[in-house]
Order: sequence, then structure tokens, then C-alpha cells
Amino acid sequence: IEPETFRHAATNMVDYIINYHRDIHKRQTFPDVEPGFMQARLPKEAPDYPESWQEVFSDIETVVMDGMTHWQSPGFFSYYPATTSYPSMLADMLCNGISCVRFSWASSPSATELETVMMDWLAKAIGLPECFIHGGHGPGGGVIQGSASESTLMALMAARNKTIRQELSRDKSLRTHDIVARMVAYSSQCTHSCMDRAGVFALVEVRKLPVGKDGVMRGSVLKEAVMKDKDDGRIPMFVCASIGTTPCCTFDDLEEIGKICEEQEIWCHVDAAYAGAALICPEFRYICKGVERVTSFNFNPHKWLMVQIDCSAMWVRNSDDLINSAEVNPLFLHHKAQDSAIDYRHWQIPLGRPFRSLKLWFVLRMVGIEGLRSNIRRGVQEAKHLERLIRSDERFEILFPVTLGLVCFKFKHPGLLLEEENSLNERLYQKIHNDKRILLVLAMVNGVYFIRVCTGSTHCSIAQVNKCWNVIKEMAEQL
Ligand code: PLP
Repeated sequence: IEPETFRHAATNMVDYIINYHRDIHKRQTFPDVEPGFMQARLPKEAPDYPESWQEVFSDIETVVMDGMTHWQSPGFFSYYPATTSYPSMLADMLCNGISCVRFSWASSPSATELETVMMDWLAKAIGLPECFIHGGHGPGGGVIQGSASESTLMALMAARNKTIRQELSRDKSLRTHDIVARMVAYSSQCTHSCMDRAGVFALVEVRKLPVGKDGVMRGSVLKEAVMKDKDDGRIPMFVCASIGTTPCCTFDDLEEIGKICEEQEIWCHVDAAYAGAALICPEFRYICKGVERVTSFNFNPHKWLMVQIDCSAMWVRNSDDLINSAEVNPLFLHHKAQDSAIDYRHWQIPLGRPFRSLKLWFVLRMVGIEGLRSNIRRGVQEAKHLERLIRSDERFEILFPVTLGLVCFKFKHPGLLLEEENSLNERLYQKIHNDKRILLVLAMVNGVYFIRVCTGSTHCSIAQVNKCWNVIKEMAEQL
């Protein structure tokens, strides 16, 4: 299309986005569509000749929008939020507009170096120890991955390859696949399923350790499992500790776990996908006590730091562990600065990647650390408000401490067995889901079903939390 058409279309698009956010409370959070609906709305084949911007623009509402789950809706209390902001959108506009692909320093020097500086800014903003900073004294540093799942996989692959090298240096006659078959990684029942998938991809067995009633994985349980595996001739080599578990936002005991990993020479990866953003507030840093002992750390700014998807920040204590695990060097990727500059392609799965650090730069500057802190505190206050409402109604029970933006509760009824109570909560969840005014999810820990409500999304507020509570009560009463 012509530049002037683009100017006009881009103006339409910006207006559309602003109005989308302004009026989002009028949209139904979860759509009324059934699987396969899109086929019926679209022609069977792509057009041979160009259509106009007006034709495309007018289809956004009719074809796409009423089939969307609106993550930015104030009725969205599901999963963990995917917050966004105008500075982040502006950065993605620029990223898309200049459309450069980045894999080595030479392929995009500014993109590489901005990422390095942003990862240091972010590490300092959330209080990570100096060993994770590029500008520090050691070989540590950060990289932006596309997702927490990729970060977990990269960490596991690096640990696996490091372990293979160590075992082979002890005994050259060993075969790689025999070493891998003896490896064991550990996580808890509450760890995100991305750890299980990483195990599937890396062919490493993942042991799911029990958590206490409080949803926390403790050092004693880990130690017992590690010692038993060692006695059985296995090679314990990786632990994924969660800071902010997905079902219940609990925090594994990093101090104990990190100490055991240090003693036993096990890679300790921290998955703080959601809760990591809260570390920007000094008052929440206690949830990460012991982080100075861990090997790698990850959180998703694209969850709660007003940076839109995708942006997953990962730090390693020793970047050589990542590089040695994934370095492959074809001639066409060689460049003059390769021995002195960072080539992020060795730190990640894809080769080409977008200029993601731009959105961190824009958000950190235009929202500022204090603005980000206020946003986190707003989400926590919303959760505390909901907690108070729930506690004031004896038909409900709060199940885990409400530390950040997640509230987990169950609906009770005297005399019910666990299975009956689970079924009651499943039915309550289904009713709320079918009602469609709010969106939340059901979860389970230690066999107990409960409903989880996550506050803090872009347009959430105390008034919206009140509405959410009224829907929950109304649906519960109907049961
Ligand atoms: N880890 C935790 C604790 C999560 O809550 C989530 C998603 O919510 C993930 C990992 C997966 O994140 P991603 O979609 O970035 O892979």
C-alpha cells in the first residue's frame, strides 16, 4: 500500500486501540463462539487481488473481536494477567516498523546492546544479586526469551549438557544417552507444567515432589529425594523452584533449596513467571530470600510489568553454561566482533528474534520504577480487598495466604466429603463460567479443588472486584 494509505490506516488503528481500551468494560470477557466458528466466517481461500484497508478494517469487529477472550477486560480474573501499556505498544510499533531480525551482535548492534543494558536495569530494579548482572564482575547476565517455558527449557538443556560434560570428564567410557537416562530433575506438584514439557523435550525424568498443606516445596523433601536417587545410582542435576506457583501463588523455600543445590552441585532454576514482577517493590523481596544461591532466574515482564507479550526475562549466573550448551557456528553467522560481543543466538532456541528490549526501555522510562510499583501495589490491594470480602462470608474459605494478586477460595457446605465439596466447587466454577460476566479458573492442590481469582489486570479496580464478588455470591446462592 502507499505510504499515505498507511498513515491513514495507522491513524484508524491507533484510534481503534484507544477506543478498545476505553470501552473494554462493555465487552463480554469470554466469547459466545464454538470451535470451528472462524471457518464459517472466512472465504475458503486467500484473495488473488488486494482488498482495501476499509474492507479489512471493518472485518476486525465482525470476524475477530466477538471471538476473542478479552485479557484486558476488567472482568478478567483468570490465569495470571497479561498487562500492557501505551509505552509498550509504541515500542512494538517501532519494532514492527523497522522490522530488523536480531541473532548476533552484527545482525543488530543496538538491539543486542539495548537488551544487555535493559536486563541489567531490570535485574537491579528487582533486586537480583550482582552475579546476574552483565556489568558485574562475573560471567553472569540476562537475556529476553519469548516465554517462561523457553527459559525453563534452556536452563534444563544447559544443566543437562553441563552434567554430560562433567560425567564424561570423570569417565570417558560412558555413553551420553546412558548418562541422560540416569538424570533426574525435581519440581513440585505446584510447579507449572512447562517443567514437565521441558523434561519431555530434554528426555530428563522430572520428579514431582509433594508440597505441604501450604503449597510450599521444602528443602527436607528435596534432600530426601536427592539422597534416595543418588543411592539408586541416579544423577540429580536440576531443580525448578517456583516463586509464585501457578495454582496458588505460593513460594518454595529458596533458602533451603538453594543450599541443598549448592551442596549437591545441582542447577537451581527459579520460575517466578508471575511473582517476579512484584520484586520491583522492596516490601515483597522477602518472597525470594535465598536467590543469591540459585543458578538461573526467570520472570515474565509480560505478565505484571505493563510490557505486553512476549517478553520473558531470564538471568544466569554463568552465561558460558548456556553458550556451551547451544553454540553452533556456521560460517554465514561469523562476524568481526564475535569474540568480544554478545551473540544472543547462543542463549536461546530460535535464531532470529524481534527487538523486544525496546518495550522494556519505553516502559521503564515512561512508567518509571515508581509507576510500576504503584501498579503492583494496586493489584495487591485489590486482592486483599477480595480476601476481606470472602473472609466475611462464612460459606467460603480462603485456602492460601494472599500475598500478591491471587486469591484462592472454596465454597463449603457442612458435612460434605472432600469429593462432594470438590464437585460443588466445580459446579460453582461452571456456573460462573457460563454466566460470562467474569472469567476465572478452577485449580487443585493436594486433591482439593478451589477457585482462583487473580486481580491486577490492566483495567481492574476495587469496583470491579466488588462486581466479581457479587457474581460469585449470586452463583453460589443458586447452588
Ligand atoms: N511458570 C509459571 C509460574 C506460570 O504461571 C506460567 C504461566 O502462567 C508459566 C510458567 C508459563 O509461562 P509462558 O506462557 O511464558 O511459557
